[in-house]
Amino acid sequence: MKNILIICLVALLFGCKQTEYKALIVTGQNNAHAWEESHPILKKIIENTGLFQVDVAISPKKGENMSTFSPEFKKYDVVVMDYDGDMWAPDTRKNFEQYVKNGGGVIVYHAANNPFPEWKEYNKITGLGGWGNRNEQSGPYLRWVDGAPKKMYNPGPGGSHGDRHAYVLTTRNEEHPIMKGFPKRWRHVRDELYAELRGPAENVEVLATAYSAPKTRGTGFHEPMLFTVKYGKGRVFHTTLGHVGVDDFIATQCAGFIYTLQRGAEWAASGKVTQPVPEDMPNVAIPLLLPGFKQYTLEKLFALARKYEVGKSEKPLSLIAERIRKTKGDTGKIKEFEKQIIKLLEDEKATTASKNYFCRELSWMGSQQAVPSLEKLAKNPATKEMAEYALFRLKK
Ligand code: ZN
Repeated sequence: MKNILIICLVALLFGCKQTEYKALIVTGQNNAHAWEESHPILKKIIENTGLFQVDVAISPKKGENMSTFSPEFKKYDVVVMDYDGDMWAPDTRKNFEQYVKNGGGVIVYHAANNPFPEWKEYNKITGLGGWGNRNEQSGPYLRWVDGAPKKMYNPGPGGSHGDRHAYVLTTRNEEHPIMKGFPKRWRHVRDELYAELRGPAENVEVLATAYSAPKTRGTGFHEPMLFTVKYGKGRVFHTTLGHVGVDDFIATQCAGFIYTLQRGAEWAASGKVTQPVPEDMPNVAIPLLLPGFKQYTLEKLFALARKYEVGKSEKPLSLIAERIRKTKGDTGKIKEFEKQIIKLLEDEKATTASKNYFCRELSWMGSQQAVPSLEKLAKNPATKEMAEYALFRLKK
């Protein structure tokens, strides 16, 4: 009896638990970026996984006393570095190193590889860094040459980026949990393309690279864009993507950036990725921008579509339509959509407006499967016109 009670209690506790992991975004200073803009974006993206509760630690302003800035890293599963500013106090640095050594997860986001060139352990954690007078003393460059990562020890500055532009990323480790299911090549929206990063580059696993083209003032090398670092028991996911200035945050609205960040966060926290591979993926021809960037499952979209009224937001409808068009005639996938649509047509609680809308969709992508439901709708004056239209086109 006592055991059962304990089991019930544990189940209750876990049932109440909102999220699995806790993340802490560290921000408050950034030399060339709008940290006030970027950290809410990161928070939203990571919370949208449904796996994280995200807190934010804001440092004192540049030039202020840093000695009191001491986030409790060990309370978290992941620390997200969105910081490029004044040096931390010795104890704060030691706590951070200890946190990672003991198995804490870290995300190094974009310019968070810029600060602390003199803090040795931080550079081991980030693997590679840029600017801050980094040079050959900081460690090698790391490039992708002839199908493998290559350390290059030639002298030169650390950190540069050419003109901001849209570019293609190449997945270099398709088996890594973060990248599993990602296309081999996919286009990212306009962003900085970090190049010439240098650092200890120890225990680094390159996940994706991009070609830094001379015509956009790049290096002519395939530079690492996404990679992981092992430090002690800690897991680090390093994304160089996602420039945010006061006037430009489009890079963070790209599905490629969002999905890799979401998956990278879970991997850094746990070593695995349970998030399903999204249905929408950017590809090599077009980047995928998510203006609302909430990941809707198809089920969720149809649940919203059922409530559609004329004059209200058509977003769920257009997102479904977009996904149908993206199947590019793949019969198996189209059948899945048709099944969902038929369920909606049969649903007494679905609005007339939603039924009429999907009659139009069925008229071009439906099959004989849809005919009985359409015939039923044709008997109802409110849906007669669109149902007959669909039937007419399906029977042609
Ligand atoms: Zn930037």
